[in-house]
Amino acid sequence: MGMTDEEEIEKLPGVGPAILEKLKEAGYNDLMMIAVDTPKNLAEVAEIGESTAAKIIAAAKKAADVGGFETGDVILERRKTVAKLTSGSKALDELMGGGFETRAITEFFGEFGSGKTQLCHQLAVNATMPTSEGGLEGHTFMIDTEQTFRPERITQMAEAKELDPDDILKKIHVARAFNSHHQTLLVDKAFEMAKEFPVKMLVVDSLTAHFRAEYIGRGALAERQQMLNKHMHDLLRFGDVHNAVIAVTNQVAAKPDAFFGDPTRPIGGHIVGHTATFRIYLRKSKGGKRIARLIDSPNLPEAEAVFQVSEAGISD
Ligand code: ADP
Ligand code: MG
Repeated sequence: MGMTDEEEIEKLPGVGPAILEKLKEAGYNDLMMIAVDTPKNLAEVAEIGESTAAKIIAAAKKAADVGGFETGDVILERRKTVAKLTSGSKALDELMGGGFETRAITEFFGEFGSGKTQLCHQLAVNATMPTSEGGLEGHTFMIDTEQTFRPERITQMAEAKELDPDDILKKIHVARAFNSHHQTLLVDKAFEMAKEFPVKMLVVDSLTAHFRAEYIGRGALAERQQMLNKHMHDLLRFGDVHNAVIAVTNQVAAKPDAFFGDPTRPIGGHIVGHTATFRIYLRKSKGGKRIARLIDSPNLPEAEAVFQVSEAGISD
């Protein structure tokens, strides 16, 4: 073996230099990405015919050894590579079983002002810190759809931790997404940029705002969910490939009581809910306090934590 992914992709029947270039541009940089794609999608992003795409996918499936069950002990070994990022609040970290996990999507949902964006800022600051302090020693890519990223907030949070704000700001890469399509393309861009920077976190704030605004009415629902589903799976793959934390936000209407009995309330409903690994419902409490409720987790109990949002950022 010893071939690079690019060499392996180049060797696939049907992939010449021109198609290789298109695949690279579309962010396909390993065999598995091609192997698990659909002909329709690959044809579209690589601007090739659907039958060509199907042939390439079939060849990639052979070359990539897609099949395979693993025993629990092997999976346990891989689980050990999962790192945990601190939020700055002990209570919130405990709720999450020690911090926010890499290789997983964590969804913050809650009404306007509940602290979703503040948490994203804080996690981006914390991700730069040494692992011995609960950080990931890495950069953050942030897809900002509502233009709520504030470098001033990063500076405040960095100063509160006696970190050099300029140094921290250089490790947070922010892209504005102008619509939902642009938002999804920025994940491909993130894959590309990850070759250049040691990224350990990808944030999408807000995951759902553009989708909600653009796909209106019953007729558009299926398409919206399909697009959102693909976007979520791209994010999850990013988390897996780069052992990164994926944090996304989702705004919901301010009716917490009605909400729990009504799973259709958060935007993206079932799709976002089923693809996010952890879902945290945030709500405001008195005096800058926030309550986080862990709603859905593969291995942690449903529980609540109280934390604080202040000028210094997130704390207990
Ligand atoms: P959303 O859930 O809509 O993203 P945010 O995360 O932006 O909400 O939270 C906004 C809230 O965060 C503000 O209402 C305020 O309570 C708090 N906040 C923002 N900046 C500061 C600050 N510099 N000092 C203290 N609290 C702040
Ligand atoms: Mg926000």
